[in-house]
Amino acid sequence: MILATPVEQLPLIGPAYAKRLKKLGITTTQDLLYHFPFRYLDYSLLSPIGKLQAGETVSLRGKVMAMKNEYTKKGRKIQKAVVADKSGEIQVIWFNQPFLIKTITPGQKIGISGKVDWFGRSLVLVSPEYEIFKEGPKKETIHTGRLVPLYHETYGLSSKWLRSRIAPLVKKFVPGLKEFLPKQILAQHQLMEFNQALKNSHFPLNQKSADEARKRFAFEELFLLQLAALQRKKSWQKQSLAFRFQLDQEKILQFSAQLPFELTLAQKRTLREIFQDLGKDQPMNRLLEGDVGSGKTIVAAAAIYVAFLNHKQAALMAPTQILAQQHYQTLKQSLSPLGLKVALLIGAQKETATDFDCLVGTHALIHRRAQFKQLGLVVIDEQHRFGVKQRGELIKKNRAPHVLTMTATPIPRTIALTLYGDLDLSLLDEMPPGRQKIKTWVVPPQKRAAAYQWMREQVKNKKDQAFIVCPLIEESSVETMQSVRAATAEKQRLAKEVFPDLKLGLLHGRLKSQEKEKTMEQFRKGKIDILVATPVVEVGLDIPTATVMLIETAERFGLAQLHQLRGRVGRSGQQAYCLLFSESLSKSSIRRLKALEKINTGSELAELDLKLRGPGEIYGTQQHGFFNLKVASFSDLTLIKKTRGEAEKIIAQIKRYPALQARLKEYTIKVIEPN
Ligand code: ADP
Ligand code: MG
Repeated sequence: MILATPVEQLPLIGPAYAKRLKKLGITTTQDLLYHFPFRYLDYSLLSPIGKLQAGETVSLRGKVMAMKNEYTKKGRKIQKAVVADKSGEIQVIWFNQPFLIKTITPGQKIGISGKVDWFGRSLVLVSPEYEIFKEGPKKETIHTGRLVPLYHETYGLSSKWLRSRIAPLVKKFVPGLKEFLPKQILAQHQLMEFNQALKNSHFPLNQKSADEARKRFAFEELFLLQLAALQRKKSWQKQSLAFRFQLDQEKILQFSAQLPFELTLAQKRTLREIFQDLGKDQPMNRLLEGDVGSGKTIVAAAAIYVAFLNHKQAALMAPTQILAQQHYQTLKQSLSPLGLKVALLIGAQKETATDFDCLVGTHALIHRRAQFKQLGLVVIDEQHRFGVKQRGELIKKNRAPHVLTMTATPIPRTIALTLYGDLDLSLLDEMPPGRQKIKTWVVPPQKRAAAYQWMREQVKNKKDQAFIVCPLIEESSVETMQSVRAATAEKQRLAKEVFPDLKLGLLHGRLKSQEKEKTMEQFRKGKIDILVATPVVEVGLDIPTATVMLIETAERFGLAQLHQLRGRVGRSGQQAYCLLFSESLSKSSIRRLKALEKINTGSELAELDLKLRGPGEIYGTQQHGFFNLKVASFSDLTLIKKTRGEAEKIIAQIKRYPALQARLKEYTIKVIEPN
């Protein structure tokens, strides 16, 4: 048996349980061992039966003297046992578990843990944990008489079940496992050894050793994460050369001069950073982060122009077709006057695209259909990670393109350090002048009708246009049929019951691309007043005339995600509004949403959500390459710095640590490159 052994090959775990384990993300022995308890029940106080006190949480060991099923007057079944040791005896009862009389039988040695109560005038233990001791030498207990681990459970997998499957592993398999962290790191940071830490995280002697184990795994987790990032960085730089671009200052100045606006200082600074990268023969791998509306597209356009001046092609990949269309329009406007051929690759197109300087399309399309002569630059919009594999596909004759990734998702510094440690970061932390704050209100259920009425007036009197983003039903990365149905139903309901006098449109990912484009076109031209949409299609959409954004079940979204959504309106400087409908009555969730009424920067909202709900929520459901930490926390800046320091020291000489290297390899496959 090895750590990679699939769980269904372990004793007492068949295919049915393996399926359930999979729901918890557990497929291998290692996964199971890394399924750490979230807390322990303290059953470590062992007491003679004669000395038990009411109210105590204790453990006892004794012999089963009697066991029987009894019926109450109301027809409930009670299981009653009597357990005795040398000091006395006590009654133990369970409810509605008639099968227990087969498990617990007189004469057995038994361990019991639970809370002692009065029952009439005698003491009793109600529904305690128990475990039967087989004859033979005294075994270590796992459910009673110690700190007992509690695990996150799923249907049909109780903590007790997990304990009894993990315990034999900890006993027989874990002691033989080899440490993979370098010795000097263990020593310097006073970390518990691997096998000790595994044992102590599941079956600790005391809370202190449990904490020590946790400390080791938190370190390990962040350390591996950063090693993986640094390794990606290294291989990115090493594998291939990029085209070194000449920077023609005069031409670049001409480019900015022909824009209808002055670039912001942040845009200028960011461009300098990008140009510096483009001037090297190491391929750029830069993340351009800027709030919605901060003007990322024009920064990308400038970089594309530089590629063009150097006779290289560029590709811009968008997450959706709608966005690809939009980028195509923008780039054509700003770049074709300069002689650059911009082409769009869309779904229906059969032939491959060849004659272009810049090709715009979705990720998949560009990979499948484009023929690049000399690809010098790839720009990726609204996505975080450009996989090593995908990049590999674009490397030709050992030349790799420069890659610029753009995102409006604010990434807190601590997360950028760990997850995106391989990317260089440019921040667009300044908005173009003249933008107004989007007025945002959290709308309680009883004000729904009034809010609709207000919307109608906006649309009718002020000729405003509105988005209604439909409920997020499942927190899933793909638009589910259920969301599509919900959006469709909601549109029908609104058209019939609420806004019969207005023109409504529907937009979701399952529409044919022609239909989508038609709807968008109608919305752009003002032929649709209100566009009902699923959350998925929204990212990055630019409809300058829309000013109202209504979001249903807002409590299900991350704050930064809501901020991104509301960034869709008021894009041409008008006063815009965002209404957050919430079905939740919980005070904390209302308070959380109310943050959007006051806070107006994505990064601040992201930091806040990081504190309130953890990192999973920041990215919401739409972004790839993101996952929750198991043990460590992204808010632990001290540990992040420590592990970063160690990772930087080790990465250059990783070959000297084969065990660590092996662990890292397997880790990288599993976590970082799921695609
Ligand atoms: P995002 O960063 O969300 O992708 P866009 O690139 O779509 O933002 O820009 C939003 C809008 O702001 C566009 O209409 C764009 O033309 C405009 N814009 C970009 N930069 C400036 C600027 N420096 N001054 C004024 N308007 C700008
Ligand atoms: Mg954009």
